[in-house]
Amino acid sequence: MFLSLTYSFTFFFTLILTSSSPSHIATFTPPATKISITSHNIQSLNKADKGTKIAGISQFKRYLHRFGYLQNNNNSFNDEFDVVLESALVRYQGNLGLQVTGKLDSDTVAQMITPRCGDPDTNTRHQNHDQNHVHKVHSSKNFVFFPGKPRWSRSMPMTLTYAFSRENMIHSLSMKDIREAFRKAFLRWASVIPVSFVEVSDSEVSDLKIGFYKGEHGDGEPFDGVLGVLAHSFSPEIGRLHLDAAETWAVDFEATVSEVAVDLESVATHEIGHLLGLSHSSVKDAVMYPSLRPQDKRANLNIDDIKGVQSLYGSNPNFRSEWSLESDMSANKGSNFLKPFRLASSLIIIISLMHSLCTL
Ligand SMILES: [Zn+2]
Ligand SMILES: [Zn+2]
Repeated sequence: MFLSLTYSFTFFFTLILTSSSPSHIATFTPPATKISITSHNIQSLNKADKGTKIAGISQFKRYLHRFGYLQNNNNSFNDEFDVVLESALVRYQGNLGLQVTGKLDSDTVAQMITPRCGDPDTNTRHQNHDQNHVHKVHSSKNFVFFPGKPRWSRSMPMTLTYAFSRENMIHSLSMKDIREAFRKAFLRWASVIPVSFVEVSDSEVSDLKIGFYKGEHGDGEPFDGVLGVLAHSFSPEIGRLHLDAAETWAVDFEATVSEVAVDLESVATHEIGHLLGLSHSSVKDAVMYPSLRPQDKRANLNIDDIKGVQSLYGSNPNFRSEWSLESDMSANKGSNFLKPFRLASSLIIIISLMHSLCTL
C-alpha cells in the first residue's frame, strides 16, 4: 500500500509540475476523476473528522460526486469534512470492499488514486456503519446491475455484432493486437452465457461499437488523460464502449515497458460486462471491480461475474458447471462447518469397515 501511494504521489507530482506553467496556475482545475495529494497532507486527511476543514477536501467531494456517491446540484464543494462526506465515504468504502471507517484513511485515499472505469458505481444500497465497531463488508457474491436491470432483449441464443470505429483508433498497438485482445475478452463472456459475439467491419450498423477517444468526445463524459479514468461504456442496449486514447495501452507488459501501461484485455473484458448489463462489483477479484492498477492484469471471470451475467442471460449449455462447484467449495474454504461433518463421515466409514472385517 505504501508503495502504491509513493508511486501515486510521484506520478501526480509529476503530472502537476509538468502541466503547470505560471500562466496556467490560475486556471488549472484538475479533473474530478483525479485526486492530487501530497505526502504532507495525508496525515491530516487521515485524522479529518466531522467539522474539520482541510484544504483539498473539496476534491474528494468532487470525486465522490463524479462516481455517484454524493449529490450536489450546484456542483460547488467546500473543504469541510461534513456528515454528507462521511456517509458518502461509508457507501464508497462498502462498494469498493474497503474497511468501512467513514474517514479518509490511507487505504481509501490509495483506492481513489488507483485508475478506474469511468462508469459510476450504481450500488447505492445503504451500508450499515457503526462508528464504534469498524468492520469489513464480507461478500463473495456482490454483482450489481444497472438501475432497472437492462439487458439485451433478443431471444436466446443471441448473437451480438461488434465493430471498431476506424476513425477512433490508436496506433501504438497494431490492429491485429487490438482485435485479438477484444476477441479473447468477448470469448470469456460467450463461454458462460448463450450469447455469441461476431466482429463486423462497419461500426455504424454493429450492435456494439468500440473506439478510442481523447478528452471531450461528445457524450458528456470527457476522458482525463493518462490514468485516472481508463474507459467507460453504456448499459444495454446502447452498445458503446469507449477507451481513453491517452492511455499507454498494452497487450504484453514486456513489449510495452511503461509504469503507466494498462492491460487492454482486462479493461476490454470489464467494459464488455457493462455492455451486457453488469455494473460494478465490490469483489476485488471480479472483472467488474471498478479499478485496475497499471501493469496489472485481471481478465479472468470470477464466479461473481459469472453468476451476475448468468442471472441476466442464463447459462451457456456448454459452460462447465464444475467451475461454479469449485468456486463454491473455495468460498467455503474458510468455513469450519463442513470439517466436523467430513470427519464424522470418515469415522463412520472406518468403523463400518472394521465392523465388517470383525464379523467376517
Ligand atoms: Zn466499469
Ligand atoms: Zn465516451
